[in-house]
Amino acid sequence: MTDIVHHIPDHLLLSYASGSLPQPFALVVAAHVSMCDECRARLEAHESVGGMVLEDSDQIIVSDDAKSRLMARLDDAMETQPIYDRSGIFPAPVMQALNGLPPKWKSLGMGARQSILDESAEGSVRLLYIPPGQAVPDHGHNGLELTMVLQGAFSDETGRYGAGDVEVADADLEHTPMAEEGEPCICLAATDASLRFNAWVPRMLQPFFRI
Ligand code: ZN
Ligand code: ZN
Repeated sequence: MTDIVHHIPDHLLLSYASGSLPQPFALVVAAHVSMCDECRARLEAHESVGGMVLEDSDQIIVSDDAKSRLMARLDDAMETQPIYDRSGIFPAPVMQALNGLPPKWKSLGMGARQSILDESAEGSVRLLYIPPGQAVPDHGHNGLELTMVLQGAFSDETGRYGAGDVEVADADLEHTPMAEEGEPCICLAATDASLRFNAWVPRMLQPFFRI
């Protein structure tokens, strides 16, 4: 895809290549890399360096766990098979997380929906569906949030994000993403800590929606 503007920062590609990136974020990186030639090339460069480090592991201590996770990831990359996606918007890694089935959407109110793909102590990753022209409640972050647009577009204080773009938000950013008019905005969003909503009602609902 050629119109991607916002890419995966290098430090995240590096931790992905070394197998140390928590799973929720790894899914966003894998999804972006599957659509982005530029990040795929940068990732391959990191992985070839990582491979040399592993071969030379007498000198450099690489935990067995990290090594086996990296090897599993490399094997996965070899075996990735296209999975039929009727809507055409879900990259292969997301289709794998969905087990090839359509998302099970749950309402967040005001027409917004979410479908949680994975949730663990490392964080969570979900699909978000925001109706055209609607805002996601204004919020800050206790940790890292990676959001990749799969369909439609949204804008916030930091810029415009269209299909394939990734926004990296951390504890310094308070933002109010707003879906563009036109198609509903569907995003893949990973977080390692809960979001801090500024409005009273979303904060009250947070434990219920687990966001
Ligand atoms: Zn990219
Ligand atoms: Zn956010």
